Amino acid sequence: MDSEEIRVRGKEMVDFIADYLQSIDQRPVYPAVQPGYLQPLIPESAPQDPDSYEELMKDIERVIMPGITHWQSPHFHAYFPSAQSFPSLLGDMLSGAISCVGFSWAASPAYTELEMVMLDWLGKMLKLPEEFIFGTGGTGGGVIQGSASESTLVALLSARRKIVTQIQTKDPAAEERMIMSKLVAYTSDQSHYFVERAGLIGDIKMRKLSTDKKFNLRGETLKQALDEDKALGLIPFFLCATLGTTASCAFDNVMELGPLCNSENIWMHVDAAYAGSAFICPEFRPLLNGVEFSDSFNVDPHKWLLINFDCSAMWVKKRSDIIGAFKLKPLYLRHDHEDNELITDYRHWQIPMGSRFRSLKMWFVFRLYGVKGLQEHIRRHVALAHEFAMLVRQDEQFEIIGDVVFGLVCFRIKGSNNLNERLIKEITNMRRIHIVPCQLREKFVLRFVVCAETVKSKHIQYAWQNIKEAAAKVGQMSENIRK
Ligand SMILES: *Cc1c(COP(=O)(O)O)cnc(C)c1O
Repeated sequence: MDSEEIRVRGKEMVDFIADYLQSIDQRPVYPAVQPGYLQPLIPESAPQDPDSYEELMKDIERVIMPGITHWQSPHFHAYFPSAQSFPSLLGDMLSGAISCVGFSWAASPAYTELEMVMLDWLGKMLKLPEEFIFGTGGTGGGVIQGSASESTLVALLSARRKIVTQIQTKDPAAEERMIMSKLVAYTSDQSHYFVERAGLIGDIKMRKLSTDKKFNLRGETLKQALDEDKALGLIPFFLCATLGTTASCAFDNVMELGPLCNSENIWMHVDAAYAGSAFICPEFRPLLNGVEFSDSFNVDPHKWLLINFDCSAMWVKKRSDIIGAFKLKPLYLRHDHEDNELITDYRHWQIPMGSRFRSLKMWFVFRLYGVKGLQEHIRRHVALAHEFAMLVRQDEQFEIIGDVVFGLVCFRIKGSNNLNERLIKEITNMRRIHIVPCQLREKFVLRFVVCAETVKSKHIQYAWQNIKEAAAKVGQMSENIRK
């Protein structure tokens, strides 16, 4: 394919994309395929001679679409949103064309410098403390990670390195293995499963602390755990707090946890993967209070800020904590400016050496929506979640679990877990809307999330009708069983 052909194919692809997204609500949101469906539809090996472009495009509808869960459908209400917007797509397209790998400043100065400025822009939208912002001469700064999971892991590993170094500075005879075996990290029983996994990857004991009635981790609970563990001779060094948990969008009390972590020399990482985007609205910003006590903070614009996957923004209060943790300088990556304090070499900030030019799509989105446009998007989604919650509340048969704060509503039929399990099976099998369940303590609960940018009131009403229809069927079945 040469540059003349891409002019044609590219325009066709843009039309294909526009058609796909414009009519996406007509497709069943959830696929009906069985595992292993795809291989029989295509050859077992790559073609020796090139296929034609027409043949390839025909296979998109035949092979790919039947196996797609349409995350951008206005009938998709599962998990959390996967952000998608046209400005972001365009920025990403350009990133694909430039296709540079930004592991150091010299590897593409614009890559590094735009990422720094975009993290500053977003940090200022979120009103993060000045230390987190490069441009204000702060000690910290931001980086784009591939996912919140990666951000948590980088925070945990940096904190581990920091505590080991601190202890060895005081006591040069202390062996790293000995110190490591005594380290203990904390998170809540509501945090994302990846926090526990980060503990496994980092070979760190991760203690899951219980939460209060509203599923929030409290200072008191952490204090008690610290006392217990210190009495056992262990070394507490890390807490991952969550603002907006995955199951129910609960908020750990970072105003209580933060000062405790600071006084006990514990690195506090705040994971606001989903909810963080909402803090660009002044009315929601108070929920971020306490972030000033944190050592690192993370939000996923690829969830709720209209920037396509992957784009997870992470800030640290002290650059030296993260850069110092894993710095190696092979000769072939050296450049003239690397010892300049003002230069950022992002390879020291992340697990992979390089990544795509991800800040371009942020720039496109921030400029083409403006802060006001982004705030409007968040507020609209929150209002739609409240609209859904109203419908649930008006129906005696159902109850809401937890608080409705942002775009998530946790609800269930008043009745057994079994009944609710059958309800979600019925909804999934109908394939008109897609939602997933969660477990909140002893209760099996359904999660309804406002996801696509294009969701409107009519989609909320449609979803509720379908849930009611499924509930009626399930109710009928249990009647029959009883008879
Ligand atoms: C979604 C989510 C994550 C994981 O996000 P990825 O970017 O997909 O890794 C982590 N924490 C919370 C609270 C989440 O909701």
